[in-house]
Amino acid sequence: MSKNYIEAANTLPIYDECDILVVGGGAAGHSAAIAAARAGAKKVILMERYGYFGGNVTGGYVLMLPALSWRKYSMVRGIQEEWFRRLDKTAPEAYIAPSFEDLGKTDPVLLHRWSSIHGNTNPGPNDRIIRAPYFEPNQLKIELDLMIQEEPNIKVMIHCWGTKPIMDGDTIKGVIFESKEGRKCVMAKVVIDATGDGDIYSQAGAECTKFGDEPTSVDKTALVWRMGGVDFELYHQWARQYPELARNFSSELAKVAGFPTAFFTDSRNDVVWVNNWLPNRNCIDLEDIKFTEFTVRNSIRRTIKYIKETLPFAFRNAFLYDIAPQLGTRGSRRLIGEYVISKLDFACQTKFDDVIAWHSLLPFVTDGAPVELPYRCILPKKIENLLCPGRHLSADAGAIGMLYLIPQCVGTGQAAGVAAAVAVQDGTTTHNVDIKRVQKILCYEQDVPLPRQENTNPELVRELEEFQYGTMTPMAKKIREEAGLDW
Ligand SMILES: Cc1cc2nc3c(=O)[nH]c(=O)nc-3n(C[C@H](O)[C@H](O)[C@H](O)COP(=O)(O)OP(=O)(O)OC[C@H]3O[C@@H](n4cnc5c(N)ncnc54)[C@H](O)[C@@H]3O)c2cc1C
Repeated sequence: MSKNYIEAANTLPIYDECDILVVGGGAAGHSAAIAAARAGAKKVILMERYGYFGGNVTGGYVLMLPALSWRKYSMVRGIQEEWFRRLDKTAPEAYIAPSFEDLGKTDPVLLHRWSSIHGNTNPGPNDRIIRAPYFEPNQLKIELDLMIQEEPNIKVMIHCWGTKPIMDGDTIKGVIFESKEGRKCVMAKVVIDATGDGDIYSQAGAECTKFGDEPTSVDKTALVWRMGGVDFELYHQWARQYPELARNFSSELAKVAGFPTAFFTDSRNDVVWVNNWLPNRNCIDLEDIKFTEFTVRNSIRRTIKYIKETLPFAFRNAFLYDIAPQLGTRGSRRLIGEYVISKLDFACQTKFDDVIAWHSLLPFVTDGAPVELPYRCILPKKIENLLCPGRHLSADAGAIGMLYLIPQCVGTGQAAGVAAAVAVQDGTTTHNVDIKRVQKILCYEQDVPLPRQENTNPELVRELEEFQYGTMTPMAKKIREEAGLDW
């Protein structure tokens, strides 16, 4: 429809003012708010459109975090591991992951024990134990709430949609939001857009891509649901014993559902989460959103019937346990920031002076060896005092499928929070922030391992060097060859 309505200008009440406004309370935004408060920001506001934090993690039922370790080293710590340290104390039954002592082990009995929990082993000649926790989303939701409530410098605004940036030239000054109280605004020295879809940066004039500009592996929506009354371990044993039958079952399952569908273990053996991929659907397009919600829900009863009838030994008593309260959103807009990271950076293991996160990319490219992510990937070109961590960060079409994962969103979120706090404290802007100070706070105060710091584990560095940082894997070589690089 191409008709327009011209909205009359009006005066909006300023609801509040703060140092740092975080819009979106998913993995990235929740971490950003906490990191900023802990780095000394005096007043942080966390604005979220729903009534809880975690985004895809808790509301989209994405119940699995891949590759928090490389070999025996715990690589992704900080706020990410804090989730599980806390659950260990408050609800230990709500997550499952190998212990730190077992990381990197190759003991066949241990590998067999973890083989049913996808992502915790690396099947093949280099099989080892990897830390990839599975968790109960509602328990994590409670824990994320507690983490926020423990920070006196964070003010929460839930059930509030950030709708429009307030700009002064190229500098962001605040955000207009909608809520049950009507349309109001919050003014801020720094704004962190953690909406996952660039809702704020796309209107602030930051350069970004739009869905369909270039195909990516994240051009897919989902609606995750769970089945209870199952015996996943029994199913797994059957799948190991009859791999050919298991493959047939998987392809038939997708036909019955009508789109790619697969189930994985949950934090308990009697529940599975059913992941799905609706190809070429844009999570910010109203028709695609409706299509996804209806199509997946319409498929659930027939899918359960098929599974129960086909594999009664493990699924005889299966039932619909629950459906994720929110749409599974993988990709929409991507920032074209001060640096656009690419697969070639991973294949060459590019070193960045402004590195703010150091993460493994599953078995892709570097066979698990961590890669560096620079601050400039969350920094929009030209727009001042706006940071953009999470799944909408600045990555090219090839890299985004490896960077939209939860650990990277938490990591870039935590770094954004610290950078925003440092910028405000130093009375400077996000483009001029003292990145060395940001790195020191992350490494020495917030337990985030980064390369080339005094506290970087020398044993880890030696092992990475021996492994040439994973740059000699067939995938890394192929990426370099395709780019015309011959080393
Ligand atoms: C089905 C599915 C399976 C996946 N599987 C895995 C997996 O196994 N492991 C893994 O690591 N990753 C997986 N991912 C990817 C991962 O879950 C996400 O990329 C990641 O959680 C994104 O975090 P985020 O904070 O950047 O964005 P989101 O989780 O999208 O969070 C954005 C937050 O902002 C809020 N928000 C949005 N717009 C506004 C607004 N305008 N105003 C206020 N609030 C707003 C949202 O409600 C939400 O809370 C999967 C994703 C999906 C959908």
